[in-house]
Amino acid sequence: MIYLDAASTTAVRPDVVQAMWPYLTGEFGNPSSVHELGTSADRALRDARAAVAAWLGARPSEIVFTSGGTEADNLAIKGIALAAPRGRHIVTSAIEHPAVAEACEQLARLHGFQITTLPVDQDGRVDPAAFRLAIRADTTLASIMFANNEIGTVQPIAELAASARELGVPFHTDAVQAAGAFDLDVRALGVDALSLSGHKLGAPKGIGALFVRGRLPVEPLISGGGQERGKRSGTENVAFAVGLAAAVKHRTGTSVAELAARRDRFIAEVLDTVPGAILTGSRTDRLPGHASFCFPGTGGESVLLELERHGILSSSGSACAAGATEPSPVLLALGIDPEVAHTAVRFTFDDDISDDQLQEAAVALRAAINSLHAVA
Ligand code: PLP
Repeated sequence: MIYLDAASTTAVRPDVVQAMWPYLTGEFGNPSSVHELGTSADRALRDARAAVAAWLGARPSEIVFTSGGTEADNLAIKGIALAAPRGRHIVTSAIEHPAVAEACEQLARLHGFQITTLPVDQDGRVDPAAFRLAIRADTTLASIMFANNEIGTVQPIAELAASARELGVPFHTDAVQAAGAFDLDVRALGVDALSLSGHKLGAPKGIGALFVRGRLPVEPLISGGGQERGKRSGTENVAFAVGLAAAVKHRTGTSVAELAARRDRFIAEVLDTVPGAILTGSRTDRLPGHASFCFPGTGGESVLLELERHGILSSSGSACAAGATEPSPVLLALGIDPEVAHTAVRFTFDDDISDDQLQEAAVALRAAINSLHAVA
């Protein structure tokens, strides 16, 4: 089997399991307890928070552990918008993950917010000038994703964040897909909030984090005992927080440049050999382990099934929209025809995937597309 669906999720790394194990077994204390098991859990949680903060160039007090990327996005959008509204206006893009798009929609529906959804160009890029123009006196938050899960396109986050800062608007970025591939130093980027998810990085599903700058007020979504400095109540998931810290601390292996070179060889091979293949997203500004295509005249699902028969596991784009019958809003936002958007296939990989395996996937893809064209 060749696993080319790393953007959907990754396996928990052995060193991460090892780091977590004590906190799932003997060291099972509640960090709020004052006895020795509690203080040991509290210490582990502090260390984990410090490690995630150091990785982001943040302070430990600026990290809120969450149940994953979806919760981190929701906390950023609703928490910041409801805490200190300059007004009831949010700027976002047409290609955000549903965790951001739906959170904005809920604010519009229940709290009367106005949402400006910026279009993207055919590569999936937000225009920084249009972004700046969209900010109004009553804009309370801007949220633009760092890198898109379906098409891999990376946005000029530092430039967008600088505009937002100049105009006095908090800037959030969903960095769930970018984590591990790009430097996420939050001071260098100039962002006010940034979301992470553990299971895209070799940590388990069910842990994530939100960076929130300094004293930027955030209204909690989950009320209770006041854990996570009151921003996210509930007994902390110590073992998983330790796992997230281990996953970000030990990111080694192939360099991002080498991974991007593998990706480029794979993309070139597919475009050269697979009849009718169209690359979606940007050729240059894209995640290093991400290649996405449309294959007009086929059906995305049937390509996936054919590929699986050859031992290649891929996906149609957004794992989160699995089973959706509507064409992807992200692909439609690029101006892709709805019919063609139904034929999307995404290949995403980490540095454990070799050139040979990608070559094998390209060969299988060609065979799959040819056989689907033959029956059409
Ligand atoms: N944001 C992006 C860009 C994603 O790709 C995903 C998951 O695929 C999420 C948010 C949601 O993260 P989680 O699965 O941890 O809730």
